[in-house]
Amino acid sequence: MQIVHPLSAPVQRYLEEVADVDRYRPDHCPQCQVKHPLTGHGFYHRTLVDIAFNGIIRVRRYLCRSCKRTTSLLPDLALPWLRFSVSVIALFLVARLLTGLTLLASARAAAQATMPYQRGQFWIRRFRAQAPTLSLTLAALIAPPTAADFVLRALHMLESTGWIAAHRFLFSQLRVHLLGWPAYLAPHGRRTTLAAVSPMS
Ligand SMILES: [Zn+2]
Repeated sequence: MQIVHPLSAPVQRYLEEVADVDRYRPDHCPQCQVKHPLTGHGFYHRTLVDIAFNGIIRVRRYLCRSCKRTTSLLPDLALPWLRFSVSVIALFLVARLLTGLTLLASARAAAQATMPYQRGQFWIRRFRAQAPTLSLTLAALIAPPTAADFVLRALHMLESTGWIAAHRFLFSQLRVHLLGWPAYLAPHGRRTTLAAVSPMS
């Protein structure tokens, strides 16, 4: 399974911190709940596109000696199964759905001027479908504002909470994916192992 690395920081700092196995070593197993620090178990690699970063990052893996299962620590600026960071997608969605910019201008706002417009449409489609669940779930953090629809309500709640803080909450506590789980992985809410899945766009 994956849990999030509790760090809202530039990718560069993450790359430095991930080298230290002790820095965020879980003190118990999130799968079998045994109260014993997990053992370092190497890394897996994945691609990540952030505002000022486009490359491969290492994701730290830990092994539970009791249940023999691994837990990986995904940095909280990254989304499972998506190559693009929370910040990039947030900038795009806010530009398009809150500010009302064109797809191209929204891509530029997210520092992705050359990306295919279909990618932005995909993010919007996923976000629209996920907006009611996001609004309801984030109500545990912040009072829902008055808004014309679920999409605007969810956007305002994410803006107020901070997208990465909200993502950390959604993912680690309730297993809700910001853009919804893809059908081939798992229904949302179900604990799953994602380490073997390559991120897509
Ligand atoms: Zn365990």
